[in-house]
Amino acid sequence: MKVSGSCHCGKIKINAKLIEGKVIACHCTDCQISAGGPFRVIVQSNGDDFEITGDASEYIKTSADSGNHRVQGFCGKCGSSLYACDLDRNLFNIRAGCLENGSLFSPKVHIFGKSAPSWLKGISQSPWLEKGPGSQPMKMD
Ligand SMILES: [Zn+2]
Ligand SMILES: [Zn+2]
Repeated sequence: MKVSGSCHCGKIKINAKLIEGKVIACHCTDCQISAGGPFRVIVQSNGDDFEITGDASEYIKTSADSGNHRVQGFCGKCGSSLYACDLDRNLFNIRAGCLENGSLFSPKVHIFGKSAPSWLKGISQSPWLEKGPGSQPMKMD
């Protein structure tokens, strides 16, 4: 499946062909910190199938949970986190949130669940509103 996306300000564009079935929700502390949220949904692409337009900024981070060195790609203008890959750039983890229709990717597996917040398992129990505060409650099926 081919996907495209961009950072929040639009300076960086991503085009990629995804590896089928690789949709991962990662609850590791690195993902929590860099996403600024409780977890991150990741889809995967081989290096040959990953194309980036614009000048992405990168840094190398030693993963707190695995100890692996990972290249972390982001937009230097707006700060959106976009991808991570191994030092040889063979396998890219793309942040599903920056892809068009990224919400369609339903995680096939949750990893590093030990650092997930305990409230996450009951997340559908508090009210879900269609839009912002004051909007209609949603029916969750
Ligand atoms: Zn940007
Ligand atoms: Zn993670």
